Amino acid sequence: MKIYLNGKLVGREKANISVFDHGLLYGDGVFEGIRTYDGLIFRLKEHIDRLYKSADAIELEIPLTKQEVIKAVVRTLKANKLKDAYIRLVVTRGIGDLGLDPRKCGMPTVFIITDRIKLYPEKHYRNGLEIVTAKTRRNYPQALDPRIKSLNYLNNILAKIDAIKSGTEEAIMLTHDGNVAECTGDNIFIVRNSELITPPAEIGALEGITRDAVIGLTKKMNIPFHEKLIRMEDVYGAGEVFLTGTAAEIIPVIKIDDRSIGNGKPGEITKRLTAEFRKLTKTDGVRY
Ligand code: PMP
Repeated sequence: MKIYLNGKLVGREKANISVFDHGLLYGDGVFEGIRTYDGLIFRLKEHIDRLYKSADAIELEIPLTKQEVIKAVVRTLKANKLKDAYIRLVVTRGIGDLGLDPRKCGMPTVFIITDRIKLYPEKHYRNGLEIVTAKTRRNYPQALDPRIKSLNYLNNILAKIDAIKSGTEEAIMLTHDGNVAECTGDNIFIVRNSELITPPAEIGALEGITRDAVIGLTKKMNIPFHEKLIRMEDVYGAGEVFLTGTAAEIIPVIKIDDRSIGNGKPGEITKRLTAEFRKLTKTDGVRY
């Protein structure tokens, strides 16, 4: 496996980061998770734009242009001869001292790992996923905005631990005031009276690239769609619930906190959107 590290492709055992890197010491950095489908990088431009937006939000200057980052991603994919891959693109504040001060960090560290994609088991796509509501609330946007895809994922990890302790793989995270925000690594959609709804990202959710793709599909498919605040009562009472994410794509949810959703099976709108999304992954991307 070849890993891109600060301009060079190195073997896995040589791809090491300093213990003084602030990405490690403080979670000070940003990242993207990107996917390729049969030699096509899905929505690469959108991922790169989000990376720069996240970096800008934490005042981190990426030492490469967007075009150079794209070249580095393609170079890494080619070196690993991967056609269907998961790409982890990371930019940290770089090596500093033991204090917080980002001004003491020299050059940001940039690395890119390309690997095979790890998915939920196929049966979850066929039969639907069971999830729970996390005890852990989503970060308060005025403290650390969940729209920033930063290396500081502890909030999500604590909620993931809640999910695991309940015997599930995913958990719904609520805002401090009890609105549904998103899941630990996925956005959430519900179907109510044939209308598709997802919470607005500004309340405390990542603006997912898959979420955007699904919203785009609703226009093409004439599915009524709105961004609206939703409470857990709305979710329990929904006809359909599904999650979206780069790794998960679109995954149906059939049970939440032991309450069945709809008829307890993946819903029709979820299935139609999944079929259209699969088509999109075959066309909407950058060939390498
Ligand atoms: N929310 C969170 C917290 C995430 O980490 C992710 C990405 N894994 C998503 C939503 C989905 O975003 P995307 O569709 O861009 O992968």
